Amino acid sequence: MPVTHWSAASAWLPEGRVARDVVLRVDGDRIVAVDEGASAPPDARRLPGLVLPGFANAHSHAFHRAIRGRTERARGDFWTWREQMYAVAGRLDPERYFALARAVYAEMALAGFTAVGEFHYVHHRPDARPYAPAGAMGDALVAAAADAGVRLTLLDTCYLRGGFDVPLQGVQRRFGDGGADAWARRASTRTDGATVRAGVAIHSVRALDERAMATVRDWAAERGAPLHVHVSEQPAENDACRAATGRTPVELLDATGVLGPRTTAVHATHLTASDVERLAGSGTAVCLCPTTERSLADGVGPAAQLAAKGVTLAVGTDSHAVIDPFEEARAIELDERLLSGRRGLHDPAALLAAATHGGAASLGWDAGRLAAGALADFVAVDTASLRLAGIDHDDPVPAVVFAATAADVLAVVCGGHLVVDDRVHTGVDDVAGQLDRSIRALLPDPSDDRLHP
Ligand SMILES: [Zn+2]
Repeated sequence: MPVTHWSAASAWLPEGRVARDVVLRVDGDRIVAVDEGASAPPDARRLPGLVLPGFANAHSHAFHRAIRGRTERARGDFWTWREQMYAVAGRLDPERYFALARAVYAEMALAGFTAVGEFHYVHHRPDARPYAPAGAMGDALVAAAADAGVRLTLLDTCYLRGGFDVPLQGVQRRFGDGGADAWARRASTRTDGATVRAGVAIHSVRALDERAMATVRDWAAERGAPLHVHVSEQPAENDACRAATGRTPVELLDATGVLGPRTTAVHATHLTASDVERLAGSGTAVCLCPTTERSLADGVGPAAQLAAKGVTLAVGTDSHAVIDPFEEARAIELDERLLSGRRGLHDPAALLAAATHGGAASLGWDAGRLAAGALADFVAVDTASLRLAGIDHDDPVPAVVFAATAADVLAVVCGGHLVVDDRVHTGVDDVAGQLDRSIRALLPDPSDDRLHP
């Protein structure tokens, strides 16, 4: 790929400064120079508004997009929602999953995400027999992300039991591999590529015993791969873990050697003070999914405490109740304001860093900063939009974090390729129509738009 130039009217640089007239020089898929106050070369492509690093969506279950809105009338809690989600999980196959995920990842690109971490556990046929090849469902996700123009860290999830001493049941049977060794053999067929990273996940402490957790830990350590794990999303998970092992989920993960700088704890909502210390002391990152956590009545995690201890924060849209990096970032602060009665717990720039660099690091990508050497992933935000008109252009970051929406993303570049141009996806036509058709194909009864548990 030739050298390209991108000229930004203004850009958010790694030191937290907003600079005017910035030229990003890109060679192949990397930024090789960032020139401030430079006049753009004639071949430069102009990016209007404020240019930010690409957003990283560190926690996704792509198929949950199919139930957006369909669960909002239901009463109950996380566990009743999960039954509705399983109704769709039971109807996925590689072809349907490709069509849905391609449209979902295109929706993410249009929202400014240039990387996604797919926490992938729908591995096998509904009766638990493997597809041929055994990685067919993961292959569908890889192909979907390639079409959508976003980086994918495929977090191949080990999921072997329904709970402490409870076997996989019903739809869950297709999530399992029968044992950790069989999981490792299947996961090992996945290799890294220019825009694909093979990572792994422990579904949760409910879903694996300590021996199986150690297998996943070793798989990741041998390859230097990202390892993600759902942690303490629900009080019931903590109670079950304490009853079975005498430890909190974080204590159990710590005792099993799972925590560390390549590990990301997803949610980390219901933590003890000792859990916070263990996550911080081990260098474990935390991925918050505030729009899902509020949707599922999970609770509000101690993000400010974690950040104060130096924990790297990331965000994920998880269940895709909405797909909007700005909403996810500001929710970290706003949800804690409601709990604490205090404002300004997180600096706006720190929230932006979580949604960009923090997520990229969690997913194993050298991205999320506009700097020489980083991957050429960036987005242009329309600072003259209805929502941002009249903001302080000398200090736009607070307004962008607290008032922009996904609709303000004008252009997206991933690996030097223009993926979104003037709010239109350059590789996937009619994203909304493709979402509609691929979701309807998954409903248990196409004549009935609702989902019944
Ligand atoms: Zn999740």
